[in-house]
Amino acid sequence: NQQIVLDNRPQGEAVASNFKLVATDTPPLQDGQVLVRHHYLSLDPYMRGRMNESKSYAASQALGEVMIGGTVGEVAESKHPKYAVGDKVVGMGGWQEYSVVNADQPGALRKVDTTHVPLSHYLGAVGMPGVTAWYGLVKIIAPKEGDTVVVSAATGAVGSAFAALAKARGCRAVGIAGGADKCKYAVEELGFDACIDYKEHSDVKALSKALKEACPNGIDGYFENVGGWIMDAVMLRMNAFSRIALCGMIAGYDGAPLPMANPALMLINRMKVEGFIVSEHMEVWPDALKELGTLVGTGKLRPRETIAQGIAAAPEAFLGLLKGKNFGKQLVKLI
Ligand code: NDP
Repeated sequence: NQQIVLDNRPQGEAVASNFKLVATDTPPLQDGQVLVRHHYLSLDPYMRGRMNESKSYAASQALGEVMIGGTVGEVAESKHPKYAVGDKVVGMGGWQEYSVVNADQPGALRKVDTTHVPLSHYLGAVGMPGVTAWYGLVKIIAPKEGDTVVVSAATGAVGSAFAALAKARGCRAVGIAGGADKCKYAVEELGFDACIDYKEHSDVKALSKALKEACPNGIDGYFENVGGWIMDAVMLRMNAFSRIALCGMIAGYDGAPLPMANPALMLINRMKVEGFIVSEHMEVWPDALKELGTLVGTGKLRPRETIAQGIAAAPEAFLGLLKGKNFGKQLVKLI
C-alpha cells in the first residue's frame, strides 16, 4: 500500500519535499471493517491549511501521518454485513492506495450508484465541492429570480457547479476565472451567462469595469473562492442588501497577506457577509446531492476533471492546484 505522508511543514509556500512516499502492508481486517481499494483521490485546497502547525478552519495534520483526503473506490474485502466486495464507496481514505475503514463510524463510508454518475464525480460535482456551491448559493446568497450572482474560480471543483444551480433558480450567473480557455468553457459548457478572465485585467479598476459590463444591474450575490484584489473589484459592484458567501480565499493559503481595500462598502451597501464550512451543515447534504446528481445525470452539469496518474504524482498535482494549474476538479487516478 503506497502512501504519501506529511514529512515536514512548509515554510511559506508548500513544496514537493514537504511530502514523502512510503509503503506499508494493510493490517488484517477486524469485524466491522472494510478494505477499500481507491480508484481516485481528491485533491482540495483545504489540505494546504492542514499542513500548517497553526489552526486554520481545518485542524492541523500530524507529521508522519498519511495526508487526509476524500477517496472513491471499491470494497476489496469486507467484514461488515452491509458491504460486499465490489461495492462502490466514497470515504476519507487519504493519500494512499488502500484504506481500512470502520464502516459503522458515522460518515466513514457511503455506498454510491454509478449507473448515471461516474464514480469520480462523487469527489466533485456530486460530492463535497458540489455541496459547497449549493450551500453558499442556496443558503447564504439565497437568490431571487432575476438576481445577478458571481463566483470566482468559476471553473474549479466548487465554481463549476455554481452556474447550473444558479440558472435553475432563474439568476444571471457570471464567472471569474484565470485564462481564456477556462472562460470559454465556463460559458459554452457550464452555462455561465458571461465569464471574465481576471488575468486580462491588470488591476482592481480594470476588473471592476469588466464586471460592470457583465453585470449591468449590479451584483446581488457573490460566492468568494479566492480573496484579495479580485474580491476588491467585485465589492465595487455589489448592490444594496447584497450577500457574500465567503467560501475560500485561496490567494492567501501559501501565506500571502490579503488586505481588503474598502470594507466600508459592506456598511454602505448593508451587505451580509457570511463564512461557512460545508462539513458543518450535514443537514443539507441529502437535498444538495440529490439536485446535483440529477443535474449531472441529465447532462445539465458537465463537470471537467484534471487527472494525475498514480499516487506518486499527488504532491505535484496538489501544488499545481494551489497555483491554478488545474482545469476543473483535480483528482489522482490510482488504478
Ligand atoms: P478549484 O478547483 O477551484 O481550484 C483552485 C482554483 O483557484 C484554481 O484552479 C485557480 O483558478 C484559483 N486560484 C488559485 N490560486 C489563485 C490565486 N492566487 N488567485 C486567484 N485564483 C487562484 O478548488 P476548489 O473548487 O476545490 O476550491 C475552491 C475554493 O473553495 C477554495 O478556496 C477552497 O478552499 C474553498 N472551499 C471551501 C469549502 C468550505 O467548506 N468553506 C469547501 C470546499 C472548498 P483560476 O485559474 O480560475 O484562477
